[in-house]
Amino acid sequence: MNYRLHLVHLYSSHMNVYGDRGNVIALKQRCAWRGIELSVIPIEPGMAVDWSDFDLAFFGGGQDSGQALIARDLLERQGAGLRAAIEDGLVLLAICGGYQLLGHYFLTHTGERLPGLGALDVYTIGGKRRLIGNIVVEARLGEGAPVRLVGFENHSGRTYHGAGVRPLGRVLAGHGDNGEDGVGGAVYRNAFGCYLHGALLPKNPQFTDHLIGLALRRRYGAAATLDRLDATLELRAQRVMLERLV
Ligand code: GLN
Repeated sequence: MNYRLHLVHLYSSHMNVYGDRGNVIALKQRCAWRGIELSVIPIEPGMAVDWSDFDLAFFGGGQDSGQALIARDLLERQGAGLRAAIEDGLVLLAICGGYQLLGHYFLTHTGERLPGLGALDVYTIGGKRRLIGNIVVEARLGEGAPVRLVGFENHSGRTYHGAGVRPLGRVLAGHGDNGEDGVGGAVYRNAFGCYLHGALLPKNPQFTDHLIGLALRRRYGAAATLDRLDATLELRAQRVMLERLV
């Protein structure tokens, strides 16, 4: 069976720091190596999206100024469609600034209140001291054993969770969502938000494959299986960071 998947890359020119675009490249490449065609549609402010066409979405991080530029478009143009798609199981990965804007709001450290989509039950308050450095989050992805995700974080925002999300994982090294409660990232249905740049997916092929698997099963049914694919080099690099940090 020739599988095809479609991904929206949200605001790729305003929201891309620390190589976040690498997440899209990793998804596309691990699909291609399995013969799955992943088409990528970059979306900028002003563009219409028919969310029912899409299997996956990626929303990268950004500076407060980049977030301010796109926040209103996200809310007013994409809001209803994107929220409905998330309810319907759209597979979405949002990093840092993108994660913040999927929550209820982001109050920046200068006091500007950026409205969020409210698709994830989290909110973010900017602090004076930035939370910077390498990070490890132990996450349970699906049924298997927990996976230790490695990444790099740099944010002023502290993100706090409500009851409508569950934690992606717990922080083994670094600051995580708010530097206080050891929570690293949030999950709601098939939508994942976290602070791990890196880029996250090239460094953590288990997460890449988890997202592709979710999207395949949503589109093609529970029987759609993901072929096994070697990741020896990626996992060796991941292990080097884990040994250094944990
Ligand atoms: N501007 C946001 C913050 O500082 C997000 C930063 C980022 O995406 N790296 O919290």
